[in-house]
Amino acid sequence: MTTLFISDLHLEAERPDIGDQFVRFLQTDATEAEALYILGDLFEAWVGDDDPNTHYAIIKMALRKLVDGGVPVYFMHGNRDFMIGKKFANETGIEILEDPHPVKLYGEKALLSHGDAMCTDDVQYQRVRSMTRDPDWQVSMLAKPLKERLRIAEEARRQSLERTLNLSMDIMDVNQGAVMRAINEYGVDVLLHGHTHRPDIHTVDLGNRKAKRIVLGDWYTQGSVVRWDLRGPKLEVMPR
Ligand code: MN
Repeated sequence: MTTLFISDLHLEAERPDIGDQFVRFLQTDATEAEALYILGDLFEAWVGDDDPNTHYAIIKMALRKLVDGGVPVYFMHGNRDFMIGKKFANETGIEILEDPHPVKLYGEKALLSHGDAMCTDDVQYQRVRSMTRDPDWQVSMLAKPLKERLRIAEEARRQSLERTLNLSMDIMDVNQGAVMRAINEYGVDVLLHGHTHRPDIHTVDLGNRKAKRIVLGDWYTQGSVVRWDLRGPKLEVMPR
């Protein structure tokens, strides 16, 4: 059996081609899987589970069908869809995981994360992250009318784009110290994350032993998946 991992699809109504590929993936590869893990940024933006966007409805239905077919789907929040909540989980049948989440896979210990919490060099981003993950902040945001939330999300997206254009790639990558701390704290062999959109497999030298850091890619131009079975994890590209 195989366990599948994906992240950073950034689904939105304006990019139906990505949504189509994801729905096909849910109807084919995923139906054969032991479980599917979505490690954040499934959506480009998420302003609340009450958003009636029809594109989201199609995605939710496809997830529901997979779960009803007997494949458990686990989801971890990303920095775009951290407001996905209980209603979404109930509608789709997915289980929401804390970040990070340790898991044992075919004899290996892995730590799953979206990855943004380890980008500690970007101090300004970490401040925004703490603010937006605060339950009180989320309650007050969700109390605003949907239209206003959509406007705020659009503005945040524009600002983030503008800011990241002027930031060095190094600052936006994971911090090596943070990576090593996470691997040591959980005593894992593999750290698996997304967020940086730089798919690769890195060796992390911990002095007394080596671990692996696997980075999932985004789905902007193609799909990215980790297929993990008894032989170990494989990072693959899925052409559109
Ligand atoms: Mn992200």
